Amino acid sequence: MANPVKIKATVKQVVKHTATVTSYHLVPQGRVPKFHAGQFLHLALDAYSPEQQWPESRVFSIASSPAERSHELAVTISVKGRFTARIIQTLKQGSECWLKLPYGEFLFPPDRHLTLIAGGVGITPYLSLLKQMLEEKSEQSVTLFYGVRSTEHYLFGDLLGRCSTELAHFGMTTYCEDGSLPGAMGILDIDAIHASAPDNSLFYLSGPPLMIHSFKSRLSDLGVDIPRIRVDDWE
Ligand SMILES: Cc1cc2nc3c(=O)[nH]c(=O)nc-3n(C[C@H](O)[C@H](O)[C@H](O)COP(=O)(O)OP(=O)(O)OC[C@H]3O[C@@H](n4cnc5c(N)ncnc54)[C@H](O)[C@@H]3O)c2cc1C
Repeated sequence: MANPVKIKATVKQVVKHTATVTSYHLVPQGRVPKFHAGQFLHLALDAYSPEQQWPESRVFSIASSPAERSHELAVTISVKGRFTARIIQTLKQGSECWLKLPYGEFLFPPDRHLTLIAGGVGITPYLSLLKQMLEEKSEQSVTLFYGVRSTEHYLFGDLLGRCSTELAHFGMTTYCEDGSLPGAMGILDIDAIHASAPDNSLFYLSGPPLMIHSFKSRLSDLGVDIPRIRVDDWE
């Protein structure tokens, strides 16, 4: 695993998805170390210099593909508290920020079936993988279960549509609480997801803490060994 590196970056593009969720496309001003899909970075708003301590930061999944790293790093940020509110108010096109990366063990082996489960903005740690799979025309067998409250909260439809049409072994089911999207109506159904997964699939959980804890415990009750359950815990 590469040693974390601190890099200044410039905001190239800001994409506002909803009132509280925004994506930032950042151009790194230094060499970006290799990272893996599923890893995360630290983002700081205050300037850093090597004589000083690293400023206050929060961590965000890297939402761009590893191959794009010399010219783009992307993050998608949901406002939860004081610091993320400050990010949304401060970062505009042309603004600078500081990044520290890579970190994390939420990794995707290329030789296994992957069952990816995303609740809401919990889709973010899968974006890098999906972009990489499109770039590489991956033959890996991957199934995504994406739960959202309503159409407004369904993010990255273009990317997910491309995965569905261009990837030979990619499948996806959307669960929409108010039934305003094609797919299943209601909340993610872990029993149905488990029943549809091939034996030996790895289960990835990303979303609200309550969802993660209850799905992890249910998968374990259903006989899935703990090493086959991978969690991106934002707590
Ligand atoms: C692996 C991982 C990946 C994540 N990926 C994403 C993502 O892709 N998109 C996204 O929107 N969110 C992501 N998060 C959550 C994000 O990092 C924030 O924790 C979350 O948005 C909380 O909002 P806030 O920082 O505005 O809240 P705040 O109210 O500012 O702080 C929340 C908590 O952060 C801690 N904290 C307080 N001060 C500091 C400090 N000085 N330094 C460090 N921590 C402090 C405290 O525990 C505090 O309660 C991820 C978290 C993890 C652990």
